[in-house]
Amino acid sequence: MDTSDRASPASGSAGNSEEGARMNPYAGLVSRLRAAWLSGKTRPMEYRVAQLEALGRFLDEKNQDILDVLASDMRKPPFEVEISEISICRSELNHALNNLGTWMKDEHVEKNWVTQLDSAFIRKDPYGVVLIIGPWNYPINLLLVPLIGAIAAGNCVIMKPSEISKAAEKLVAEMLPNYLDKDCFAVVTAGVEETNKLLENKFDYIFFTGSPSVGRIIMTAAAKHLTPVTLELGGKNPCYVSDNCEVQNVARRVAWGRFFNAGQTCVAPDYVLCSAEMREKLLPALREAITEFYGPNPQESPDFARIVGDKQFQRVQALLSSGRVAIGGQTDEKERYIAPTVLVDVRPEDPAMQEEIFGPILPILTVANVDEAIAFINTRERPLALYAFSSCKKVLRRVLEQTSSGGFCANDTVMQMTLTSLPFGGIGHSGLGHYHGRFTFETFSHPRSALLRGAGRESLNNVRYPPYASRRLPLLRVATETRRAAACVLL
Ligand code: NAD
Repeated sequence: MDTSDRASPASGSAGNSEEGARMNPYAGLVSRLRAAWLSGKTRPMEYRVAQLEALGRFLDEKNQDILDVLASDMRKPPFEVEISEISICRSELNHALNNLGTWMKDEHVEKNWVTQLDSAFIRKDPYGVVLIIGPWNYPINLLLVPLIGAIAAGNCVIMKPSEISKAAEKLVAEMLPNYLDKDCFAVVTAGVEETNKLLENKFDYIFFTGSPSVGRIIMTAAAKHLTPVTLELGGKNPCYVSDNCEVQNVARRVAWGRFFNAGQTCVAPDYVLCSAEMREKLLPALREAITEFYGPNPQESPDFARIVGDKQFQRVQALLSSGRVAIGGQTDEKERYIAPTVLVDVRPEDPAMQEEIFGPILPILTVANVDEAIAFINTRERPLALYAFSSCKKVLRRVLEQTSSGGFCANDTVMQMTLTSLPFGGIGHSGLGHYHGRFTFETFSHPRSALLRGAGRESLNNVRYPPYASRRLPLLRVATETRRAAACVLL
């Protein structure tokens, strides 16, 4: 196994003094990538296509390894790995390869009178050297999907996978560099302390996926260098269920979204809001859905994952004390198993409602009606996703219009993020910026404005030069100002 290209603090420090390497062990690595970027190597479309195709080979040839490492990290079922890690990456990769030529084209824009004979366009310029920091819950998807857009946009990239999903981190660090151009792409394995040292360096863009609290640390570090950031964060995603709905369908769609990857999904429905009458119908339907999906004992199901680590297990287990367990509730610390669980009688001030659950627990809170549900949602931080179930379109439209969230999905959960045509990202506490499909390419591209003027025809410019003559002002206005379009009056 070739590990020589895995970037470690030591490998990044080549050429520095010992003291300098200790103070900033990644300076050498960052400046090596910056030199490669400045050489212009990553700009041609052929280069980008070659790197993306190499990434595709990594996905194909390491398919089984990806299944194995995620089984090792959190016993993620192979089916879930295929659809949520590998297939999503492949889909994003193919979408980028299919559209790269169009995305890279200069975008010619409207001109005013003064510039009619000139060329005005937006150039999609790569930022330069970018840093991608990933979390542990979908460690392949959440590192490679941003990487695809960063490569497509012509950047050099340092990737920092999560140290919590150890087996996935090892696979990415040891294998991915064998597929990509080592001058331009590197993987850094780092815990908290080393990541903070990495963040001392100046990057041209930082793309971070993780918790809101670490998001603040990233943004503070980026602010020192005025580096732009995307923050893909988490939060509590509400799921409103109206009285008027297909209860069994709702139960299956909510249970699937909540218990997929044992609840360790940023867009999972975090809690249900419904009336007391609906709760009585929903509970048996959820029980039936859970048994249908995972059998009478979910611990024996090959389709139900485990919590990633002991610390995370203890945090999620502690949330079981909120309200009353109506379904599930069993735990097994040795296996880091927590059964698919539904809690009732949960109060807004209980621990399960104070933080993102990020585990297989679904509290149900009762509200009198849709007004109360909307009011409840609007008094809390704006979530990454918001779900509403109803057979009545008016109710769905009201929830969509009167709330705010990163994304919205009616009558299902999680499915909004399977479309590469929709931007994916949070708002407020759940994040800053968005990506997926063309939006990832745009995230990693600076829209550089370019005006190419002719060198001659100087007499046309006289109108704007001093000594100023107020009689020329009306002409200058006509030549440069945008005028309000005439209102169209329908008789
Ligand atoms: P985390 O914030 O603990 O860690 C994310 C990354 O930051 C890791 O690579 C980690 O090494 C690094 N990190 C951790 N502490 C750090 C520190 N003090 N200084 C610098 N770097 C640090 O998040 P996590 O536990 O890996 O993931 C769970 C969180 O991520 C949840 O809140 C979840 O909702 C969120 N998430 C969001 C999305 C999204 O797309 N919006 C996707 C997945 C997960």
